[in-house]
Amino acid sequence: MTTTETTPFRSGFVAIVGRPNVGKSTLLNRILGQKIAITTAKPQTTRNRILGIHTLAGGQILFLDTPGIHRGKSPLNRFMVEQAFAACSDVDLVLLLVEADDPVGGGDDFILEQLGRGRAPVMLVINKIDKVRPEALLPLIDAYRRRFAFKAIVPVSALGGEGVERLVEVVLGGLPEGPAYYPEDMVTDLPERFIVAEMIREQVLNKLRDEVPYGVAVEVESFTEKPEQELVVIQAAVFVEKDSHKGIVLGKGGAMIRSIGQSARKEIERFLGTRVYLELFVKVQKDWTASERGLRRFGYHGK
Ligand code: GDP
Ligand code: MG
Repeated sequence: MTTTETTPFRSGFVAIVGRPNVGKSTLLNRILGQKIAITTAKPQTTRNRILGIHTLAGGQILFLDTPGIHRGKSPLNRFMVEQAFAACSDVDLVLLLVEADDPVGGGDDFILEQLGRGRAPVMLVINKIDKVRPEALLPLIDAYRRRFAFKAIVPVSALGGEGVERLVEVVLGGLPEGPAYYPEDMVTDLPERFIVAEMIREQVLNKLRDEVPYGVAVEVESFTEKPEQELVVIQAAVFVEKDSHKGIVLGKGGAMIRSIGQSARKEIERFLGTRVYLELFVKVQKDWTASERGLRRFGYHGK
């Protein structure tokens, strides 16, 4: 007589943490096969917790993409670090992302010390292995293993995809038995408006590089579907902290904001799968990143 063995369905929450620019958003987008988290070469772009849902035959993984962890003194900075560790206190598994071409550094000690106090097991993901020679990996893995009792250590290239499938298997194996919490075709539970606003903000940061610092927030003011024309009409405001920044975002004769709008529209059309009419306004909200009120206004609330 035989009994059929079925592998249990697993599910749980996984926080992705690491210093800015290690590739957290790139990894999440690669796993989901879709652009949810914005990625740029600039640090600090990810500010809010983003829930990515990955459903497989054997289970469902719910990802949180946390803000980059680093020490800083401004209210926005402190808020982001608090959010990152708060995200870790409530999960089944923490993925700590580091870069393969970075020596094991002091910045990671700070993160490991904090994570060591939590109760969730921690897996180490060594990203950007495309940037180092293969023989450099083993010593690096060894150095990390001596520092912390990681549940697993997995090298990947989030950009190229190498090792990512294996990582997903290892992550799933580390989750408890549980049901699917979301329908299997759902990739995120963030509202479309939020993702649209993030896509616009990404283009502002991309095109303006260092001219306008991080005090850019985007609010979608209206989102109107016109199914008979297969069109979505979106009006959004780009908030800056200073009058002088307004002129930069607008550009000569409005050329910059038009260019931002065109690139953002293409991204949004791809995401929504429909034609989009996008209208952007630039508004000044004086020094919003310096005040608790300003932070709340743009959605950076505490718990
Ligand atoms: P985050 O701040 O941790 O979310 O980092 P991002 O995902 O925004 O990535 C920061 C930068 O690193 C971007 O320019 C990515 O294209 C780049 N990047 C991410 N993963 C890899 C990788 O596996 N290899 C290489 N060479 N670059 C990567
Ligand atoms: Mg990011």
